[in-house]
Amino acid sequence: MPTESKKAETIVLHGGSYRADPATSAVAVPIYQTTSYQFNSTEHAGNLFALKELGNIYTRIMNPTQAVLEERIAALEGGAAALALASGQAASLIAVQNICHAGDNFVCSTDIYGGTWNLFQNTMATMGIECRFVDPADPDNFRRATDARTRCYYGETLPNPKLAVFPIGEVARIGRHLGVPLIMDNTACPVLCQPIRHGAAITLHSTTKYIGGHGTSIGGIIVDGGHFDWEKHADRFPMLNSPDPSYHGAVWTQAVKPLGPIAYILKARVTLLRDVGAAMSPFNAFMFIQGLETLALRMRQHCANASAVAEHLSRHPKVGRVIFPAMMDGEARRRADAYLKGGYGGLVGFELKGGRDAGGKFIDALKIFYHVANIGDARSLAIHPATTTHSQLTAEEQHKTGVTDGYVRLSIGIEHIDDIVGDLDQALR
Ligand code: PLP
Repeated sequence: MPTESKKAETIVLHGGSYRADPATSAVAVPIYQTTSYQFNSTEHAGNLFALKELGNIYTRIMNPTQAVLEERIAALEGGAAALALASGQAASLIAVQNICHAGDNFVCSTDIYGGTWNLFQNTMATMGIECRFVDPADPDNFRRATDARTRCYYGETLPNPKLAVFPIGEVARIGRHLGVPLIMDNTACPVLCQPIRHGAAITLHSTTKYIGGHGTSIGGIIVDGGHFDWEKHADRFPMLNSPDPSYHGAVWTQAVKPLGPIAYILKARVTLLRDVGAAMSPFNAFMFIQGLETLALRMRQHCANASAVAEHLSRHPKVGRVIFPAMMDGEARRRADAYLKGGYGGLVGFELKGGRDAGGKFIDALKIFYHVANIGDARSLAIHPATTTHSQLTAEEQHKTGVTDGYVRLSIGIEHIDDIVGDLDQALR
């Protein structure tokens, strides 16, 4: 279905070319649980491998169930094409590695998920790729950290624990001027924000969170906006503009031209995904398609409940500070209003006056909230980042990402607000 003029609520159900299964007319998307696909002829097989036509070869590289998810999420994000992967971590790694070689660098916001920080700071350093962390409060920090070997910028739309919305348009503009694409992790705000519409070149998600929505499956996805001019900045992107020895000398910006503005994402699929093998299973793709169908509805409820929780906590005598985009002022509030539409997300942070001990006691006393290292579930979740998700960071790194001893992160679910507030109150007592 052409979705350009359609709203998110419609795209999540109808986005992309799938209408019914071509073999059986089934309306629900079938789980194509197959490793491989029979070629029509040797000529057909040759054309597929030569990328003269796109089609299924082997499920490590593509699969019809994944393809429906990819088309729907590409439409939702306003992008040209997408690539489903085994996890959000795989999406972050491949999104950067697709254009970064040993000896290159990229500039990343300090406000990112702890696991991404570790991947970029430590694991990617072992590959010779340098991550330069900068404070996104001043977008110009990205410009200052850029040199001739800078291949991309990276940020999170609504990073926890700070929950200060990233200056997407501001950093994208700096990047466009210098020929550096912005990659946005939009995990925390599907539907609420489309970073590509604000100038980001690439968006990615951990589909594990809101898109799945039910805490059942791990997955990730990268969306190519299709409007970054990789050829114009050929010096910066030799990996897309010079012969690639890993695919019989293909020059991606040229080889892919007849197929559309998808050089970046097609290269990621047929080289990195082919080699690394971090494929999303067809079953998980099916689960994410189910989750996607109610995503817009759930996001509305997550946002309404989170706003009510933030208000309630801000009046509670045991709470020192509430961190929520709608309660910020100045530039942080302006960015929240500029980039989030329809709500301020489902995450709420707060600091207990009693510090670390009070934080631990509070979490142990919760009855409805689950104590888990996850966000975006339909159920309400809580965690103490200093001792869990951010514990592998040094004290200084924790401080930079906004984690303090008494900080508690809530991922507000879609239960009735009275029951959510009731559980928080009894645990605070
Ligand atoms: N990005 C963000 C914002 C996350 O919160 C997470 C996981 O918590 C990830 C990426 C990594 O995703 P996954 O757990 O699916 O690998």
